[in-house]
Amino acid sequence: MTLGMILELDDVVRAYPGQRTMFARGAPVRAVDGVTLRLARGETLGVVGESGCGKSTTGRLALGLEAPDAGAVRFEGAALPRAGSAAWRGMRARMQLVPQDPLAALDRRLTVATQVAEPLAIHGIAGDVDALLDQVGLSPSMGRRYPHALSGGQRQRAVLARALATGPALLVLDEPVSALDVSIQAGIINLLEDLQASRTLSMLFISHDLKVVRQVSHRVAVMYLGRVVEEGGPEDVFARPMHPYSRALVSAIPVPGPRTVERIVLRGDPPNPADRPSGCAFHPRCPAAVARCRSEDPVLRSLSPERTVACHVV
Ligand code: SF4
Repeated sequence: MTLGMILELDDVVRAYPGQRTMFARGAPVRAVDGVTLRLARGETLGVVGESGCGKSTTGRLALGLEAPDAGAVRFEGAALPRAGSAAWRGMRARMQLVPQDPLAALDRRLTVATQVAEPLAIHGIAGDVDALLDQVGLSPSMGRRYPHALSGGQRQRAVLARALATGPALLVLDEPVSALDVSIQAGIINLLEDLQASRTLSMLFISHDLKVVRQVSHRVAVMYLGRVVEEGGPEDVFARPMHPYSRALVSAIPVPGPRTVERIVLRGDPPNPADRPSGCAFHPRCPAAVARCRSEDPVLRSLSPERTVACHVV
């Protein structure tokens, strides 16, 4: 265990069986392909990348909802037990998921207060539902409502209250504000920052929205095709991105007024993970690619204690 770390992923791999055709089964799809991450207590690690880059699978691996095919996941220094086991259920009280769609996460047939009380009953914890609702900015009267009678932002607050009921040390937030209007997003992000400060929460914040990630994260990991290609502080990654993929992502962030940084438009779509390109998987789309990139896989290397990049030309 690395001192002060709440969550550690070491060279984690998760593959799914390839598609079956009439004659054969395709190559396995490596959704997560050797990811190493560290999350310290009270820290927020933002994980960004295009759809299909493996960031949500990384979140599920961190919670033990999926078992890695190789590598190790440790929470508070201990290896995650098998999903569904009593030890895992006990550990899950300390680590909770906040999903993207609060309406899907809540049961439409039960009031919000009933659903916030559920984890307390499951884990045998004494807790005050009204106090939990108050912490996320909901009144007791809102607790008596059903999910469909709340706005999108209020529903996400209800999901947060339920996640906080067991006193978790870690929240894995998977696109928690992507479905919300910008004005409502700001309220939820302020709430997350307040909760983190008052409860010393650690957060794995998964999003494709770089503006939001920049705002909430202490560190940022950029993923491409199942791997981390750059990691560093938000000011480094967003103000001085080094990996060509990070540069393209950052150049596409909407800015008010005239653009000072030219937008880098990548060629084509991300490749099929079942047919990973040789060498650097980014080379077919990379504006900086050199001959070596087609044959040699770049390893993630430290440029400073806070900065790692996987690229031959950086
Ligand atoms: Fe581009 Fe080559 Fe760097 Fe990959 S290793 S990101 S292809 S320059």
